[in-house]
Amino acid sequence: MAVIRDVMPAFQLYQPTSTSDAQKLLEQHGADAWVLAGGLDSMDWLKDRIKKPKAVIDLSGIEELRGIRETGDGIEIGAMTTLTEVVRNPAVKQKYGLLTQAAGVVASPQIRNQGTIGGNVSQDARCWYYRAGWPCYRAGGNICYADTPVGRNREHAILHAERCVAVNPSDTAPALIALDAKFVVQTPKGERVMDAEKYFVGPELDITRMNILQPGHLLTAIRVPSTWAGAQFYFEKVRDRNVWDFPLMNVASAMRLSGNTIQNVRIAVNAVAARPLRLTAVEDSVRGKSRSAETGEMAGKLAVQGAVPLQFNAYKIPLMRNLVKRAIGGVQEVSPSWVS
Ligand SMILES: Cc1cc2nc3c(=O)[nH]c(=O)nc-3n(C[C@H](O)[C@H](O)[C@H](O)COP(=O)(O)OP(=O)(O)OC[C@H]3O[C@@H](n4cnc5c(N)ncnc54)[C@H](O)[C@@H]3O)c2cc1C
Ligand code: SF4
Repeated sequence: MAVIRDVMPAFQLYQPTSTSDAQKLLEQHGADAWVLAGGLDSMDWLKDRIKKPKAVIDLSGIEELRGIRETGDGIEIGAMTTLTEVVRNPAVKQKYGLLTQAAGVVASPQIRNQGTIGGNVSQDARCWYYRAGWPCYRAGGNICYADTPVGRNREHAILHAERCVAVNPSDTAPALIALDAKFVVQTPKGERVMDAEKYFVGPELDITRMNILQPGHLLTAIRVPSTWAGAQFYFEKVRDRNVWDFPLMNVASAMRLSGNTIQNVRIAVNAVAARPLRLTAVEDSVRGKSRSAETGEMAGKLAVQGAVPLQFNAYKIPLMRNLVKRAIGGVQEVSPSWVS
């Protein structure tokens, strides 16, 4: 492994203590600014000298961006709330256990102590080539190194690839989509509140970004409405090392049953495309059906329609089929010990 001996390129560090000051700094520095949350993704880029912002806006001193508040209709989670705080929060655990489960399997305890929910949903792709500074499409070049006969693409996309075949690696994103969360973004034109699934973008919209944030934008909070509080949840993550690792794939669903009949459901998967995917066709097809192995089987088959494997990731198609099958059909949930 190469040893980098150079120090990080110099930048101006700003440490605002209010959201409005952070917003002003972001507007002032535009595309030269970098938002720093927990730093787990940010520091990789800076230390590897691949991203070289002129101004770094550190959000860690902004109290108003931290914490979980109960609102008239659910909860609001400040963007700078750590993943550990999300996992331990009693209201989240009691009503939105899907998010507790998803946040609880992100990386390792140390990373969850430092990583924030805002950073987790805003993190960049983990494709080797891109992270190593190769000039691929996502980096502004005109080639995808992963999508070649010898490219290392075992972890990459099977759906909606468009030149770039990288995937979104967030564990909390599909859970937030399944819970119908709303993301609150401050922009120079004012506040925008959007459905969680609208926060994420694929390469067909912008190949250099994984979310809608533009220079000057700040994610301030995530609101989880009470609509799905206490619903039947299912979360499963498959990874190479269970101790800590990014997902090879994950699935999150929220379901309301009447007896054994599926009244309503939301389901999302991640690490199959450049954005977490809500499976609306699956949702539509299972509403009104009984929750059974047969319904799960049908849902799994439907979910993978149109999937196209790369050279080394064909395993992802049966994996997705089975994850969706279990999420819809229902199996005994096994919560990790730290979630209970
Ligand atoms: C070794 C390792 C293993 C990991 N494993 C997993 C895993 O298994 N599952 C998983 O989901 N994640 C995993 N992660 C990601 C990790 O959990 C962090 O959540 C994530 O990297 C970023 O969170 P952060 O708070 O450190 O944000 P940062 O690294 O500081 O920021 C990440 C990105 O989001 C932007 N950003 C952050 N907050 C805001 C905001 N409020 N407004 C606008 N932009 C913002 C930053 O500019 C940056 O581009 C892993 C990370 C590492 C280093
Ligand atoms: S998959 Fe995307 S990020 Fe990776 S090399 Fe190809 S274009 Fe770059």
